[in-house]
Amino acid sequence: MPKIKFKKNILLKNHTTFKIGGPAKYFLTAKTKEELIEAIEFASQKKLLFFILGGGSNVLVSDEGYDGLVIKVKSQRGPYGVSSRAAKVKNSEIYAEAGVKLDDLVKLTAKNNLTGLEWAAGIPGTIGGALYGNAAAFEGSMSDIVEEVECIEPPKIRIFKNKDCQLSYKDSIFKKNKNLIILSCTLQLKPGNKKEIKQKIKYFLDYREKNHPLKFPSAGSIFKNPRNISAGELIEKCGLKRKKKGGAMISEKHANFIVNLKEAQAKDVLSLINLIKKEVKKKFNVELEEEIQYLKT
Ligand SMILES: Cc1cc2nc3c(=O)[nH]c(=O)nc-3n(C[C@H](O)[C@H](O)[C@H](O)COP(=O)(O)OP(=O)(O)OC[C@H]3O[C@@H](n4cnc5c(N)ncnc54)[C@H](O)[C@@H]3O)c2cc1C
Repeated sequence: MPKIKFKKNILLKNHTTFKIGGPAKYFLTAKTKEELIEAIEFASQKKLLFFILGGGSNVLVSDEGYDGLVIKVKSQRGPYGVSSRAAKVKNSEIYAEAGVKLDDLVKLTAKNNLTGLEWAAGIPGTIGGALYGNAAAFEGSMSDIVEEVECIEPPKIRIFKNKDCQLSYKDSIFKKNKNLIILSCTLQLKPGNKKEIKQKIKYFLDYREKNHPLKFPSAGSIFKNPRNISAGELIEKCGLKRKKKGGAMISEKHANFIVNLKEAQAKDVLSLINLIKKEVKKKFNVELEEEIQYLKT
């Protein structure tokens, strides 16, 4: 019998930025690294099918949900954002547990006059999710600043130095090896000027506000950019902006975003994804590859 308390039949649409997804059979939130280790060890001992969810900002969950255990990694926050237990600053280094929000870390770095993470302002989700997909924007990426990553590969705890993480465009060793669960990381930043750091953050946030469809639920960019071509431009040139299926629509503001206009289902999004792939292949002979991760049983 579980010594850990699970919830049952939890709707995953309430845990994704797309606001899409059916129920998870079992669900629990790990608020600390220790709770995460306990949950992973439990799931692997019991041979339970499990999935790690961070902020749910890069996933499309099926309408049928997930017939296993979803472990949501979400660090506790303090009154001023990230708690001092979950993230610590030492000189130019920042330690953070996997469930710390990336945006909270951006604020923490600015507070401590550290530069190197401004590009991440406005990216939703956790630092664990950001490492998994080597999150990147504008001039920066996780690969530029990761010192080391602490993982559990049940039952072993392992430390990966930057070069061992195999971070490349939207890829990492954590994506290739699903047995590796990220517990925490250390980032190496540089001393900077608070005013300049804040100006950069504001610039990136303003850019997102202007160019991304932030008013509607989405999972960010659906596709990777193939060989430095903008996937959004290819989709736009196929005349697919504003194309709708059910409650889902290819965004008018940015064609690589599919937005949930109203109660969209995963099947609506999938239908648009297939349409985009077909049209882009036909017009440009380019095979688009999803950046988003799928969660289905
Ligand atoms: C409006 C918007 C804008 C965005 N802009 C950007 C952008 O500019 N650049 C960019 O790179 N991305 C962007 N994204 C996508 C997304 O925010 C990032 O990929 C983010 O880093 C995902 O983190 P998450 O915690 O939400 O991961 P989730 O969506 O919860 O999970 C994504 C994957 O990571 C795995 N994972 C999560 N945590 C762990 C862990 N601790 N250990 C092992 N695996 C784990 C999950 O199993 C899943 O496969 C955007 C998304 C939105 C909605």
